[in-house]
Amino acid sequence: MQENKHIQQQLEAWVKENKGHAVLGTTAQYIPALGKVDPSLLGICMVDEDGHYYCAGDTDKEFTLQSISKALTFIALSCHYGLDFVLERVDVEPTGEAFNSIIPFEIHRPNKPFNPFINAGAITVSALLPGPTSQKKYEYLLNFLESLVGHPLEMDKEVYDSEWKTSHRNRALAYYLKEAKFLDIEVEEALDIYIRQCSIKISVKDLALIGLIIAYDGFNPITKEKHFSEEIAQVAKVLMVTCGMYNSSGNFAAHVGIPAKSGVSGGIMAAVPPKLHSQTNEFRAGAGIGVYGPAIDVQGNSAAGTMMLRQISKEWDLSIF
Ligand code: GLU
Repeated sequence: MQENKHIQQQLEAWVKENKGHAVLGTTAQYIPALGKVDPSLLGICMVDEDGHYYCAGDTDKEFTLQSISKALTFIALSCHYGLDFVLERVDVEPTGEAFNSIIPFEIHRPNKPFNPFINAGAITVSALLPGPTSQKKYEYLLNFLESLVGHPLEMDKEVYDSEWKTSHRNRALAYYLKEAKFLDIEVEEALDIYIRQCSIKISVKDLALIGLIIAYDGFNPITKEKHFSEEIAQVAKVLMVTCGMYNSSGNFAAHVGIPAKSGVSGGIMAAVPPKLHSQTNEFRAGAGIGVYGPAIDVQGNSAAGTMMLRQISKEWDLSIF
């Protein structure tokens, strides 16, 4: 596809139009370092198969992956041990409960966590990453992510410290997991790797590229590198559609219709699969999208970011449904 000025202008206009929706949310107050970020920021980046990046708004601000990391850890672990190994230890069922709820665990006593995007499942998956210590597990994940984005990444120490000190709920969940024999490592080690992965700094540009690789079933159409199998990408996209946007995943599927994963820092990573028959789709051959808008709604999704994606998907016919 030729670089397209119209796309760029359109994205800039939509950022301006949607910025005001930030008032519908607030920054994540339960992690103090996230709570103090400027809530009015809004940025978006889209990348196509030819490597054209279209970026508008506050795109130079880095932020932490938070729950977006759950999709990436799931993929990284599946690459190492195979999908069957991972799916034997974590299910792919949405819960309808808050991401950090103890209820599904305590009430249903499942034989494995419901899915890798709720915290119980995510902590289980992180603890399984290869390596004898949380440091080694973190290095494995970081290497994998760096191979996707093509440059070094690092952790935001302030966000890590802030979450470590306030992680009472996640600590409680990890003790449940330990008691249920889902954790082979110590609770504090499991929390350490989980909070480290949540604290990795990222940009909307990087998120767009990873989204593109997921949309292309593990293949990077720009570098022609294959990073993971179609089977893994397929399950990752199913999880993104069914559980990726917390408890508004159904609404997001109805109004946006793009496999996506969000985090409480206000980031959203979306994978737009090719839709070659569409007439109005500016990204017929597929795309990746990264969004950042730190004011999140009650479900935990970027308020302005979600509204903007809704508009983009409608105007450009990006929904997969
Ligand atoms: N580190 C965050 C937590 O566990 C991630 C939550 C999220 O982004 O949904 O509370």
